[in-house]
Amino acid sequence: MGSEQTVRNICVLGSTGSIGTQVLDVVERLQGRVRVRSLAGGRNIELLAEQVRRFRPHFVVASDSEGAAALREHPACAGVEVLCGQEGMCRIASDPDVETVVVGVQGFAGLRPTIAAAEAGKQIAIASKEVLVAAKEPVRRAVRKGGAKLIPVDSEHSAIFQCLTGEPEGSVERIILTASGGPFARATREQMASITPAMALAHPTWKMGQKVTIDSATLMNKGLEILEAEALFGVDPQKVDVVIHPRSIVHSLVRFVDGSVKAQLGVPDMRLPIQYALLYPERVDTALPQLDLLTCGPLEFHPPDEERFPCLRLARAAARRGGTIPAVMSAADDVAVEAFLDGRIAFLDIPDIIEDVMERADNEPAEELETIIRADYRAREMAREAVEKRSRAAVR
Ligand code: MG
Repeated sequence: MGSEQTVRNICVLGSTGSIGTQVLDVVERLQGRVRVRSLAGGRNIELLAEQVRRFRPHFVVASDSEGAAALREHPACAGVEVLCGQEGMCRIASDPDVETVVVGVQGFAGLRPTIAAAEAGKQIAIASKEVLVAAKEPVRRAVRKGGAKLIPVDSEHSAIFQCLTGEPEGSVERIILTASGGPFARATREQMASITPAMALAHPTWKMGQKVTIDSATLMNKGLEILEAEALFGVDPQKVDVVIHPRSIVHSLVRFVDGSVKAQLGVPDMRLPIQYALLYPERVDTALPQLDLLTCGPLEFHPPDEERFPCLRLARAAARRGGTIPAVMSAADDVAVEAFLDGRIAFLDIPDIIEDVMERADNEPAEELETIIRADYRAREMAREAVEKRSRAAVR
């Protein structure tokens, strides 16, 4: 490969988060192959300004007007166009001078910018699984309309994507998602009752944001990933299996109709799937850590325990029910995880709250964005009420 290397212009949504900072690390390693055209960050304005200084984008987007005002005053942002909020994110996601849009925004906030990028026909490196879970139909429709391409950043889905490359349609028999099992894979129900946020944030293999780390500890992350696989690959969720694989070396597998199984392996480092998504279909050496088969230890697999980890069962129920229920589940989980991180509810309250909201919420067809946004909003309200009840009960 190689003499005519084109420079790719990218837009990074969620640049100050865990995915975003690792994306920018990969960009630096790629030494000029990728140019940052625009950045959208969260509340950490100092970090966002520092990123502007390092990458000299054309646009920078703050999450709110206060942040935008601070950026306009900041010396690092002189000559850079400062935008704000969802509107700003949609604008940079559909910018004609951008080829690849990275969606690393936490959760549902990435929804409208993802649709904007899809309608504008971008290559979308998508890390926000909540967007795919809640809004599968609108996203798929926008991708078709704009001729966009979704490249997963989530390590399991990157693995599946790589396994499926070059395979004819209809050849897949099952998809096998691997899960590390999180820090409590061997804990008893009694031990799980006293899990603190600090304990749950200590993930054994992956370095990730707080929400996804807690989701990994409850296995809701894997539940969301079943639905994410459905959205990305059009696979029936019934054909997606989950196996616990504590070392996170085999990132996921595909079994084909002839019985052959393909897997993708690598060290657990998010920069690998990020780099793959940024340069797809090219592969380059950027001196990231290498897998050594002789020292990586035995590759064990065992079945997940849905009794101890009810979130997996809830996600399967959401996949079966369809409509707005996956969006409802994801929204309730978001609220419950935040309440757990704030010390307001116990670890084992998380699945209870999600189940409670899923039982009470109406299910509607999830074709239109507005319906989904409404369902998300109502589910969050119900989840907050459920959190309130539990935190009051705990005080008494
Ligand atoms: Mg994952």
